[in-house]
Amino acid sequence: MSEQVKFVLDENHIPKAWYNLAADFPKPLPPVLHPGTKQPVGPSDLEPLFPMELILQEVSTEREIEIPQPIRDIYRMWRPSPLMRARRLEQKLGTPAKIYFKNEGVSPAGSHKPNTAVAQAWYNKQAGVKRLSTETGAGQWGASLAFAGALFDMDVTVFQVRVSYDQKPYRRALMETYGARCIPSPSNETEAGRAILKERPDTPGSLGIAISEAVEIAVKDREVKYCLGSVLNHVMLHQTIIGQEAIEQCAMAGDDPDVIIGCTGGGSNFAGLAFPFIGLGLRGGKKRRIVAVEPAACPSLTRGLYAYDFGDTSHLTPLVKMHTLGSTFIPPGFHAGGLRYHGMAPMVSHAYQLGLIEAKAYHQKACFEAGVEFTRCEGIVPAPEATHAVRCAIDEALRCKAEGKAETILFNLSGHGHFDMQAYINYYDGKLVDQDYDERELAMALAGLPSVAI
Ligand SMILES: *Cc1c(COP(=O)(O)O)cnc(C)c1O
Repeated sequence: MSEQVKFVLDENHIPKAWYNLAADFPKPLPPVLHPGTKQPVGPSDLEPLFPMELILQEVSTEREIEIPQPIRDIYRMWRPSPLMRARRLEQKLGTPAKIYFKNEGVSPAGSHKPNTAVAQAWYNKQAGVKRLSTETGAGQWGASLAFAGALFDMDVTVFQVRVSYDQKPYRRALMETYGARCIPSPSNETEAGRAILKERPDTPGSLGIAISEAVEIAVKDREVKYCLGSVLNHVMLHQTIIGQEAIEQCAMAGDDPDVIIGCTGGGSNFAGLAFPFIGLGLRGGKKRRIVAVEPAACPSLTRGLYAYDFGDTSHLTPLVKMHTLGSTFIPPGFHAGGLRYHGMAPMVSHAYQLGLIEAKAYHQKACFEAGVEFTRCEGIVPAPEATHAVRCAIDEALRCKAEGKAETILFNLSGHGHFDMQAYINYYDGKLVDQDYDERELAMALAGLPSVAI
């Protein structure tokens, strides 16, 4: 397999380059469109929001993009993240399958998100930017960018989705400890926020609304740039260090995964683990089953349309082609706050459209049940988002048991749940309900998709 992508890791076992799946897609990604003209955007259209280096990464089709040494030096604070084998879970399930997981919960902020937060903050710093704005759902992304802001001495403003702001006060405290300012969204600080509060004063908020607010303050103030924790191509790119490390670590363990699993909100931790393996497959290597797991209450891949849509509720962002529930869709307030996004990363959507990945949706109670079973075997409490991947890994292991197959399963434990214990308390108290989204609201949101000639 000489034509296989070779991933090169440095002496500290940290990848030297990010891997760009865009170079290996059998068909190119559909272009990003301007929200006004609906024509493909050029790099300069994105300049109010992002520094040029990140824009160039966004549109790049180069297979490898070198990771600057200062970023790798910071990655060394917690990377390579451990690849662990869940032997006790295997025994408990009585499965012939091997279950491995990549533990991204070991980062300072507790999830995979600092992998891109550090990179985004660094490129902004290099471009002379002093202030960053962003949104956050459960608070993982806000905490990660706040951490990166602290490392580079930058001001960070975070719009946190109202329901999470109320449910997760400790994440807000963490963001503030790192030095960021945290505002519940929708807020009175932006036009987008005020307009939504006027119509629905008791709204739980959504990532789409919070993005509108964060984008608005970046567009209005030249000193401020915007950061996004998922969805965008450059975010998928930065996360590919997870899969590259996993490939080396699996080889060290003498194993090779047959099934690769990740939970999907905007798609980045899934892409981070899966894309390097998909790349190997596309370049003549082994083909594996790759499974994206989403919440049944916000099922963009399994129930959404593959269409051009806005990334935010107030329609300030460019149009991207993705699996979407409609930008005005507001999912019910379930506990995996990081999975409450109406769309899916264009790169993950494209991979799904090309048949390179599978998708599955689970309700939250079955996921918490899996999370608790995992914790009692392995000692690590998964974040509510990550319990979706755990659920799927357990189901795959049980399938292997039923079929008598000794497959190797690898899933991404995208973060720990230490700040989400209220969700576990609610689960123990029998207070969690398996909410379904409102079919009428979904139909309305989909009917409102922008019409695009391309
Ligand atoms: C944000 C988050 C997710 C969902 O985001 P993706 O971009 O889909 O990875 C999943 N797990 C954890 C722990 C998160 O913080």
